[in-house]
Amino acid sequence: MPDKNTGNRQQNGAYPYTELYQRLKKHLDSVAIVDCHEHLPTEANPKTDGMEKHIGRFFLHYAGCDLVSAGMPQADLNAVKSSDNKLSPADRWKKIRPWYEKAWNTAYCECLRIAIRDLYGIEDFSDKTVNQLQEAIEKNVKPGFMRKVFDKARIDIAMNNLWDRPVFYADQPHDCFIPDMRDSFTNFPFDDFCGESGLEIACLDDYLEMIDWYFERYGKVAGAFKVGRAYDRTLLWQDVPRSDAERVFNRMLAFNDRPDRKDVQALEDFIMHILCRKCGECGLRMKFHTGIQEGNGNIITNSRAALLANLFMKYPKTGFDIFHISYPYQEELVAIAKNFPNVTIDFCWMWIINPAAARRALSDMLDAVPANKILGFGGDFLFVEGSYGHAQVARRQIARVLAEKVQEGRFSEDYAAQVGQMLLRDNAIECFDLAKRRKAFAGMKKTAKRV
Ligand SMILES: [Zn+2]
Repeated sequence: MPDKNTGNRQQNGAYPYTELYQRLKKHLDSVAIVDCHEHLPTEANPKTDGMEKHIGRFFLHYAGCDLVSAGMPQADLNAVKSSDNKLSPADRWKKIRPWYEKAWNTAYCECLRIAIRDLYGIEDFSDKTVNQLQEAIEKNVKPGFMRKVFDKARIDIAMNNLWDRPVFYADQPHDCFIPDMRDSFTNFPFDDFCGESGLEIACLDDYLEMIDWYFERYGKVAGAFKVGRAYDRTLLWQDVPRSDAERVFNRMLAFNDRPDRKDVQALEDFIMHILCRKCGECGLRMKFHTGIQEGNGNIITNSRAALLANLFMKYPKTGFDIFHISYPYQEELVAIAKNFPNVTIDFCWMWIINPAAARRALSDMLDAVPANKILGFGGDFLFVEGSYGHAQVARRQIARVLAEKVQEGRFSEDYAAQVGQMLLRDNAIECFDLAKRRKAFAGMKKTAKRV
């Protein structure tokens, strides 16, 4: 039996499978992916480009959570991720190593290995490679790296979501990204909104006018509208009467009053219904985070896609894209997407959360849901090496499912190849109307430059 720390754990070489699999995989490798969801820095902005340039960048999220799940103290992970220079690369690795060994098997960790192998020529994180990795990061991570990695991953463009502006971030290279609008409207950061819009908010009507201002400005150039609230509240958005919402809103504006969480939630519900209507008017598809949340220790039942059913019904003209296939509620999503013409399924992040579950889900979906409603890939990473590794995992797993459909006698090989192209590219262009939106965003950049 090989020693567990030195024995070869990785199955070497190409996946053996069948020639059919190899042919389909080769076809998928040739498809220029439209990546439905990322959180990548702009490169041009020093604030968001301050991405950690040490081994900790790989554990900023996902794999870092697996280390904590395996037993790593959160404080150690925080030290590893920190951008200060107190720890040497070797010291950071020393903290990671015991837990990485225990979580080596997960797809989060495998995705990173694929990335450092293909991009930096390094087989695995280890005592021997830690300094080599540091040198490779310092040499490569600089403006232009994003496009280089996208080209190697055959990612044409990514729909990108940044956090340091309340709603929209225009300063993104349009050869890499099309930005999404994001929902801060249900979080009420009044100062941020007023700063950009120049509007003052003294009552609910002012607030709704401010929402109109943002939609007028960005509703036609954004790729989609992202809602990430399943982290801190339920996805059930009740239909709240305006008078109730207004009462809470006025209390919120008053200096000496603090509405409780239940009241604020009712106001958020009211605003969400407004947003659904606005998105429908702008033809802007809404992307809802559903299913497993990033980070350790979350309430999973808050996030099931089925909680959104009242919105799907009330706003038939609004498109809803359901992120992360609502895992572990993916079976509910199959029924929902089969049922509602305005609901699509999005596999972003999913291929590395649980590749086997993702495969089973895709297989079910291809038996039950029209193929044009399945969006096959979104890297969902903060650092581009992760997006690269994830894209490799996704192509591999999708090829396996497609090969299975051919072997079952359900799909011809040609049709399977066509479905692969739809999942990785065509469906995203169609669902988000990206040809038009990409052009509008590029136009916006040109105008911005002229000013
Ligand atoms: Zn995300």
